[in-house]
Amino acid sequence: MSHSESSLIQNYVRKTPKSRALYERAKSVFPSGVTHDARYLDPYPISVTHAQGPLKWDVDGNEYVDYFGGHGALLLGHNHPAVVEAVQQQLTKGTHYGASHELELHWAELITQMVPCAEKVRFTASGTEATMLAFRIARGFTGKNKIMRFKTHFHGWHDQVAYGAKAPVDGLPAGIPQEMTENIVLCPANDAEEAARLLQTDHDIAAIIVEPTGSSFGHVPTPPEFVSQLSALTKQHNVLLIFDEVISGFRAARGGAQEVYGISPDMATMAKAMAGGFSTGAVMGSKAIMDMMTIRSDDAEWNATQRIPHFGTFNANPIAASAGIAQLEIIRSTDAIEKANATAALIRDGMNEAIAEGELSWVTYGRFSDFHVFLNPDDLDITAADIDGARIEASVLKSVPGNLQSEFRAGWLAEGVDVISWPGGVVSSVHTLAEVDRTLTAFRALIQQFKQATTLQAV
Ligand code: PMP
Repeated sequence: MSHSESSLIQNYVRKTPKSRALYERAKSVFPSGVTHDARYLDPYPISVTHAQGPLKWDVDGNEYVDYFGGHGALLLGHNHPAVVEAVQQQLTKGTHYGASHELELHWAELITQMVPCAEKVRFTASGTEATMLAFRIARGFTGKNKIMRFKTHFHGWHDQVAYGAKAPVDGLPAGIPQEMTENIVLCPANDAEEAARLLQTDHDIAAIIVEPTGSSFGHVPTPPEFVSQLSALTKQHNVLLIFDEVISGFRAARGGAQEVYGISPDMATMAKAMAGGFSTGAVMGSKAIMDMMTIRSDDAEWNATQRIPHFGTFNANPIAASAGIAQLEIIRSTDAIEKANATAALIRDGMNEAIAEGELSWVTYGRFSDFHVFLNPDDLDITAADIDGARIEASVLKSVPGNLQSEFRAGWLAEGVDVISWPGGVVSSVHTLAEVDRTLTAFRALIQQFKQATTLQAV
């Protein structure tokens, strides 16, 4: 049976003719018809017209419970009234001043109050820019050239990080010079022994960057002990520790995963939940490190050769800043994070129950406001505790065939649920028990369809 003949894909295609038509148009102006690789879906993605709270709607009028969550930005759901109000007010006062403003200051002060490692902050326009800047600061501060990072961990799409995040097939993508890789040291995920060996043998490592909750917010979980080991190793070898908290920041806890683990890294990168759906990013860290960016008006030599330069037209623009202040004030003063975490736990438990009833070998896991589904193509005998305990290799978790992932996603879309292609999802503070029920009912229907499709295939 070819992929396009799959009954799950056929259901999806039947329900989404207008999305399909828009995709045909999109293909002529966008490569692959999309504007972000992760929004690609085989045979085509849905085209959305509007969203509210935990829901969104497509051009065909289908309603979805949304777990794509603006790629993780929407911890408070779509169009939170406080964020909308702040942005609407700001729109009438100006979108870009090309100057300093009090909003950026207020926003940064909230960040320094909430995030343990953040004494000083520099805003960027995206998470990718934040990791790129953090690497530059780390090199400037230490005088060393290399960055160690972990296979499968995702840090954006600039040359230094755009490879090594996939498994099992992974190479150097076209467009990235081989020489660039000389300054990147790739270590297997969660392998503290190998990290220690690399640090002992290579004295040109400036920093280690890690997604502290695991790659893609825990798709390949990182055990907390590993993060502690990295903290000890970096101190021992005089290497900086960077937490990439672009997803976990203001989501795993008010102060990010660093608050959960009680480990303050030298620097952290954040984005997504920091501005409730507007373009943003930031690097934060100790004064001594961040002051590598300081302009010294009386020291041209320092400015030209030692200080870290940084620009960016949209850094801390007033619209993102107004949204960010509204979002962070709510995250700081309410139980939004705890609510999202609790709802995600209900979803994970309910999905695992449904999987057990359906006698499938899939596993749903996660730790915070997330759920990840391992579609277990080889029917391995493993549990959520095995995966959350990081006892399952990254190569296994990331080896689910693409067509199975597409069927799962398209099949669940046809039942009214949108998830990220891992597959998995991020949960907001405004997903209620009603959405949980809908999600689990849709998941049970999806399981039945998978079983029917497999039976048909076997016949
Ligand atoms: N780091 C991590 C951990 C991420 O999840 C992402 C985005 N998915 C990035 C960096 C890149 O952020 P952006 O998409 O804002 O460039």
